[in-house]
Amino acid sequence: MSLKEFITKMPKVELHVHLEGAIEPTTLLKLAKEHKVKLPANTVEGLQEWYKFKDFPHFVEIYLTISSCLKSTEDIELITREFLIGQAKQNIRYSEVTYTAYTHYKFRNISFEAQLSAINRARDWAKKEYGITMALIIDIPRSIAPEEGLIVADWVIDAKNDGVVALGLGGPEVGYPPELHKDAFKKILKAGITSIPHAGETMGAESIWGALKDLGASRIGHGVRCLEDTKLVDYLREHQVPLEVCPTSNICLQVAPSLSKHPLPKLLEEGLYITINSDDPPMFNTTLTDEFLRITETFAFSHEEIKKLVLNALNASLLLEKEKKDLLLGFEKDFQNLTIANT
Ligand SMILES: [Zn+2]
Repeated sequence: MSLKEFITKMPKVELHVHLEGAIEPTTLLKLAKEHKVKLPANTVEGLQEWYKFKDFPHFVEIYLTISSCLKSTEDIELITREFLIGQAKQNIRYSEVTYTAYTHYKFRNISFEAQLSAINRARDWAKKEYGITMALIIDIPRSIAPEEGLIVADWVIDAKNDGVVALGLGGPEVGYPPELHKDAFKKILKAGITSIPHAGETMGAESIWGALKDLGASRIGHGVRCLEDTKLVDYLREHQVPLEVCPTSNICLQVAPSLSKHPLPKLLEEGLYITINSDDPPMFNTTLTDEFLRITETFAFSHEEIKKLVLNALNASLLLEKEKKDLLLGFEKDFQNLTIANT
């Protein structure tokens, strides 16, 4: 069995992927046409050209344009279904999906409840159809006011038993430190909900410290720039705080110059808790399968090392202990079968 076949077939869990950032290019073109949103491209190749980001603000601008193509709950349900079909094709059995509900509430006037119902319809459908599951991390876009962030926190608390597992923090890191939304995170932590902010991507160690200390982060979205501070590396190692590393995203957004110069091997060498993720797959011309393939080819990881990264994601997920145990049993069996087929 080739490495490609092994990686394609192995069971997976994904912890860092954005729903709006995962819209299929053909669907985006269709939605834009239907809703008369002017995009700078009308072909898939054209979109790929458009997805060449000058810097992070440029990426955010494109992300918001993409988000503006979603006008109704039907659109939201459609992209969720398509997303889950893509996850099923990659044998991703469980995903924790980041979704920026506030954007669609503010600009499209779609209530959070209606958005959540649309996503949950697709989630239930995929469970029946493919036997895969997902949960939501609803994020606060950093640039909104703290009072608006509190609205998002309340949504998350209300939807605790309805498929939402955490509060996230996304959007531009530069100029918007974690502490701006301290109160929102305080509120959800008090309600027993997990905090999973992005940090240490376009900003350095201080942003990760802020996420840990001010926002009570249990996992860090990205976090790759922790290497700039040895005390922080020690802290992350000691507490085994999972980092959601997204290699290709880091290259597309100039966080790392190339894959061969990506800090991933150093992060592993430091004994940190690493998971591998795709972030916004079509926008970075990748998939989770591709991420595993690329890192394995570049850093010559063994099958065992790859398996460890997969199981790291499973163990760092917010599934209930019983669900985790069941999934783990299935994964162990599948990996064993793949290894037997390989010898
Ligand atoms: Zn992200």
